[in-house]
Amino acid sequence: MSKTETAGGLTGDTTSLGVDTPVEKFREFLEIRGDKLTEPRRVLVRHIFNTHKHFDADELVRDLHDAGQTVSRSTVYRTLRLLVDSGLLRELRLTNRTAFEHDYGYPAHDHLHCTSCNRIVEFRNEQVKELRDAVSRAHGFRASGHRFLISGVCSACVRSHTPRRRLDLI
Ligand SMILES: [Zn+2]
Ligand SMILES: [Zn+2]
Repeated sequence: MSKTETAGGLTGDTTSLGVDTPVEKFREFLEIRGDKLTEPRRVLVRHIFNTHKHFDADELVRDLHDAGQTVSRSTVYRTLRLLVDSGLLRELRLTNRTAFEHDYGYPAHDHLHCTSCNRIVEFRNEQVKELRDAVSRAHGFRASGHRFLISGVCSACVRSHTPRRRLDLI
């Protein structure tokens, strides 16, 4: 099944799309590989697809622990890898860590990453896609995806980190 994009904002309700649930998609992916959707994997997928956010593996382990779910660390790491391979999760390689987020049933978008507080901001801009397609056309390439990540410092960090002039401190 092809990826479904919701119309409108980034907060699209992924449950009303009339497509298979992430759990069903993952089960299908595993079965094709001769693998099984074990209970810990099911718990994990449910938990991950409950809310849209950007998270790293350690955060997920902590989250699950806080929620009283017992999923081993190695299962978390291995399942994340499988979820990326299946196309359900997208991997964001940031300068200092790797984050994950939903890809399945979620509208295409790009990111800004604050290297000071680690905040990730999502945005959609048609011009990014237009540029991608124009560059691809010029190279006789048919684009199926792209990665565009702006790294820098967010406005809150700029405000709090602007050093006072030396003279003010004396
Ligand atoms: Zn920041
Ligand atoms: Zn995102």
